[in-house]
Amino acid sequence: MYPDLKGKTVIITGAATGIGKACALRFGQEHANVVINFHSDKQVKETEEMIKEIKDSGGNAIAVQGDVTKESDIKQLIEKAIDEFGSLDIMINNAGIENEVPSHELTLDDWNKVISTNLTGQFLGCREAIDYFLEHDIQGAIINMSSVHEIIPWPHFVHYAASKGGIKLMTQTLALEYAPKRIRINGIAPGAINTPINAEKFSDPKQKEGVLKLIPMGYIGEPEEIAATAVWLASSQASYVTGLTLIADGGMTLYPGFQAGKG
Ligand code: NAD
Repeated sequence: MYPDLKGKTVIITGAATGIGKACALRFGQEHANVVINFHSDKQVKETEEMIKEIKDSGGNAIAVQGDVTKESDIKQLIEKAIDEFGSLDIMINNAGIENEVPSHELTLDDWNKVISTNLTGQFLGCREAIDYFLEHDIQGAIINMSSVHEIIPWPHFVHYAASKGGIKLMTQTLALEYAPKRIRINGIAPGAINTPINAEKFSDPKQKEGVLKLIPMGYIGEPEEIAATAVWLASSQASYVTGLTLIADGGMTLYPGFQAGKG
């Protein structure tokens, strides 16, 4: 538990499922005020259940529908957080999408969709949160959900890999720019995590086996293991940490091909 998170207000984008959902529930357990951003009408029921669970665990929560690619939706998300809870302390830019296409067949539309959700959406979240922190003299924290694919090239996912590579240097650049104001900006790079984004892949035993071979620790991570890194990074326990990408990947980025000591 991180007692300083009690009463803090955190916005999490794309929080109705997967890693964002696990973060929302965990911040609720830390007794934070959680703003659950969700995208689709189909996620309303899920967010209502989440609000109840967060309140039952001692936190507070609201849900705000919005599309992170739209500047006006991001502005409204922050306004609603402030209207409801009086402030903003932590911004978690988590929403993200991917789709598999050989790069020579990738349409401009598909490229733009992934870049605008994963990279531009996170930039807008950073910019609006920083602007608010500066105006109100808040030493806030921002966490950008990256991926091991900010390091590892990924054929058939060039738009995704480019977006995550972009997140890495965006995070470091903003961290450097706003360090004098004590605004901390960090990233998290999950490896393979058991969430809806991977549901199709992991339901095929052959594909799942292929992924497991890439993970030295030998198992697919759970979203709660990523949420555990997010609460630490957001808390005062990480007060001197900025510009970091915290890798939580069961060793995936440690060159698993060398595990047997050959090379
Ligand atoms: P997920 O599909 O469960 O979550 C993504 C969420 O983003 C969904 O709730 C979706 O509705 C939302 N979203 C999509 N477009 C949006 C938009 N325009 N506006 C607002 N919300 C939108 O998958 P996840 O695994 O929980 O992914 C969360 C983040 O973690 C993503 O950025 C993803 O790239 C990253 N990540 C996931 C893994 C993994 O293995 N699961 C690994 C590395 C990084």
